[in-house]
Amino acid sequence: MPASPPAFVAVDWNGTVVPFFGLDPYPDALATLGRLRASGVPLVVVSRAHPRTIRDEVARLALDADEVHGVLDKAPVLADLAAARGRGVFVGDTASDQAAARAADVPFVQARLEGGPAFGDAPDFLRWADFETALLAALAAVG
Ligand SMILES: [Mg+2]
Repeated sequence: MPASPPAFVAVDWNGTVVPFFGLDPYPDALATLGRLRASGVPLVVVSRAHPRTIRDEVARLALDADEVHGVLDKAPVLADLAAARGRGVFVGDTASDQAAARAADVPFVQARLEGGPAFGDAPDFLRWADFETALLAALAAVG
């Protein structure tokens, strides 16, 4: 972790932690997120889903999260998180995830676990084992 760790790490679910509801997580996803949280970084799940659906999914994988949000629009949740907790990051796989982060003024990290193209203007990672490098880049970019 950097000298000043993120105030939170928020993650999208489908395409970021798992390929889709009900499927196995991406390799190293749970271990990486668990390690981060064990180091003291609050972990938040923000998914475009019914609240009960995403709560059940997080429980299914026994992921310890500080907050779980199932919403239609991620930007207001991200803005609330930033206001309440300070400078965190949002990790997601779609352009709309990046747009939500931008709208909330929260640094974005692109998950490219399916090997799709890089958006080009955000730190990215292809495997969860490489997440921390992208996280550090996102934090360095905002100073
Ligand atoms: Mg997604």
